[in-house]
Amino acid sequence: MVTSDEILARLRGSDRRALPRLATLVENDEPRAVAALDALYPLTGAAHRVGVTGPPGAGKSTLLATLVAQIRESGRKVAVIAVDPSSPISGGAVLGDRIRMMDRHADDDVFVRSMASRGRQGGLAWATAAVAHLLDVAGFPLILIETIGTGQDGTDIAALADTVVIVETPGLGDGVQAIKSGLLEVGDIVVVNKADQPGADEAARVLRSTLALIPDPNARQVPVLKTNAVSGDGVDALLTAIDRHHAWLQDSGELMARRQRAMRAEVLAGLRAELDRRVALAPEGVSELSDLIDRVARRELTPRRAIANLAARLAAPGGA
Ligand code: GDP
Repeated sequence: MVTSDEILARLRGSDRRALPRLATLVENDEPRAVAALDALYPLTGAAHRVGVTGPPGAGKSTLLATLVAQIRESGRKVAVIAVDPSSPISGGAVLGDRIRMMDRHADDDVFVRSMASRGRQGGLAWATAAVAHLLDVAGFPLILIETIGTGQDGTDIAALADTVVIVETPGLGDGVQAIKSGLLEVGDIVVVNKADQPGADEAARVLRSTLALIPDPNARQVPVLKTNAVSGDGVDALLTAIDRHHAWLQDSGELMARRQRAMRAEVLAGLRAELDRRVALAPEGVSELSDLIDRVARRELTPRRAIANLAARLAAPGGA
């Protein structure tokens, strides 16, 4: 049995393969890795977690690659977790290309990990949180988490962050996507990427006036920035805004509230994943489920009663 001290030494040591290996084990819920992570959990909390979210094609990956380069210039280590809830393949071809783009530094101070749903039901946010804890312990002061931000997994993943950056693009014609999806309300920083394209000023204006209508208990003004992820224009200002937001979180005490929100998202995501796992794994639970569904179909039982029944069964010792 390896001790947590040994794991810590390995994580922070010179073996480049130690971290990706442990991340894979953690992602796969491998019991020894999970036990190690549990032992290390009290050491987490130092990293600034930044969620970067927005619709597919907005330029999130390109922006992150440029941002990573900026962060490296400032002398800091940085980790990126790219989460794609729509993709069933972890580290697949498309993600692989993106990763290579970001990983071009090929130094120990940039760690990039891609995660996909892999048919996992609702477990993606849970796995993402676990990998983020690991990166935190490994000593990355900044952890960037990229996701499309929709669906249960997307919102849970955004909630894991201390700072949420929303990425939009100009010229969406029928209105800005984040406004329609309600995503804007969770944004701490809003970026109009592809600012080299027509309509960027207009999009920024629409976003600013919409943001002004969202009540903010902290009376904080959400910055709306324009970037060109390809040329790098505006990306330095984005990094400054991210660092400023972190400083504000610490000074105002809001960081604690964010962490509370993150823990809630993580625990609930874990609970959902555990329920899904139990239903999927226990054959007797499945037959019980089929029986209950038959009874619901015959109108002998209401759907609500069926759920209460199942929940009680799942909670019982030795239950499914
Ligand atoms: P993601 O799906 O949000 O991660 O978007 P990608 O980073 O894959 O970018 C989608 C496309 O937009 C790619 O072809 C990028 O080269 C392009 N792109 C990203 N940022 C910019 C930008 O600032 N300006 C322009 N003109 N194209 C961009």
